Amino acid sequence: MNDASHELRLTLYTFHGTRWSHEQISAAVRHAAGLLGQCRVALTRAELHVVEAPRRFHFYSTPVSRELLKRMPVAKPALFFVEDTLNRPAYDAEAIGRGNSASRPELADTVWIAYGARDLPQALTHELVHVLADSGDHSEEPENLMRAETSPRNTRLTAAQCKRMRERGEANGLLRR
Ligand SMILES: [Zn+2]
Repeated sequence: MNDASHELRLTLYTFHGTRWSHEQISAAVRHAAGLLGQCRVALTRAELHVVEAPRRFHFYSTPVSRELLKRMPVAKPALFFVEDTLNRPAYDAEAIGRGNSASRPELADTVWIAYGARDLPQALTHELVHVLADSGDHSEEPENLMRAETSPRNTRLTAAQCKRMRERGEANGLLRR
């Protein structure tokens, strides 16, 4: 993207033995890259790692996933494509930014996506924006990507949302100029 001002490098993780396929993951990440382009953020690298780990790590669960990341330091921002979530309430996809990671610091700057997540490309990008902007804010604007409910039609980001994502993302070392 020629007019991009910031570069994003993503690290993707899944686990051998889950239902996720490389094709599903790469299609969703390509779609996410297109959505982030409206904010002049270019995805320049996405590296997929397939982790060999005991079955219990294939599920998102705050204590178990913290343990995983203590043992396996990861490059961030990192997206985890897990079999399911054991947390309650159970969200299809969940983001942990700086602001909501005090009690679980290992999980800062990560997104956890359960197999079968609805509106996968939009859900993934929505959570990634929460992480990059370090904000849990939602929007009520029609067709905004940050509406609380994901939908294939909710794809837009406002200039203010883009600005915050670029500025906070850069300040937190998650985006580079
Ligand atoms: Zn949200």
